[in-house]
Order: sequence, then structure tokens, then C-alpha cells
Amino acid sequence: MTDCIFCKIVKGEISGNIVHRDEQVTAFRDINPSAPTHILIVPNKHVDSVNMLIADDEPLIGHMFTTAKNIAAQEGIAESGYRLIMNTNADGGQTVFHIHLHLLGGAPMKYPMG
Ligand code: AMP
Repeated sequence: MTDCIFCKIVKGEISGNIVHRDEQVTAFRDINPSAPTHILIVPNKHVDSVNMLIADDEPLIGHMFTTAKNIAAQEGIAESGYRLIMNTNADGGQTVFHIHLHLLGGAPMKYPMG
């Protein structure tokens, strides 16, 4: 996806505040944080939205969650807690169409959501 901003961050074509990178995912700080810790975990391959996931992507999605858990520990918020969110399409509030897992923490999250 040539116009995808997250593909460009993954490829290093534009800068991102990267906290983790491996062969499957890249994680970087959100440019407009909604919490003291706000990190996005994105797959290195382009997937528009959760609606486009296929069965072969299941290990990748699992890896996104274990990466989020590891980063939460690295950021010192594992014990205090955190929220993981993946928005889908307009009603879900998705604005960047390259799937990403939001890791939010460092303060109590508001509830109820929605
Ligand atoms: P969503 O609304 O779920 O699609 O989330 C997209 C997120 O990407 C928002 O929280 C934005 O602040 C964040 N974002 C957009 N552009 C960048 C960027 N260049 N670097 C880091 N975060 C970004």
C-alpha cells in the first residue's frame, strides 16, 4: 500500500517513535496520545481492517497481543493495568486503515466505553 502512513513507518520511509520491531510487527508511540502511555502495535504487512483478516492471520494477531503485553511490562504499566483496543471502520472510530492495536495505560481508563 503505497499511500499507507503505517506502511511508511514500518518501512522507515517516515519517522516514528519506535519502541519495538520484529519480523512480524512494529510498535511506535501514538502521535496524538490519549493516555500517558499510548503505543500502537501494527503488523508489518498491510491489512486494511479487522474485516479483511483471514484464518492465516491468526498467529499474527496473537503475536500483536503478546507484543502488547511485553511492551506494557517494558513501560511499567503491566501491574497498574492497561487497555487494548482495535477500532474497525467508521462506527468503530478507525481513521488509519492499516490494522493497529492501541495500548493505553499510565492512568485509569474511563468506563463505560462507546
Ligand atoms: P484509529 O483511529 O483507531 O484508526 O487510530 C489511529 C491512530 O493513529 C490515532 O490515535 C492517531 O493519533 C495515530 N496516528 C496517526 N498518524 C500517526 C503517525 N504518523 N505516527 C503515530 N501515530 C499516528
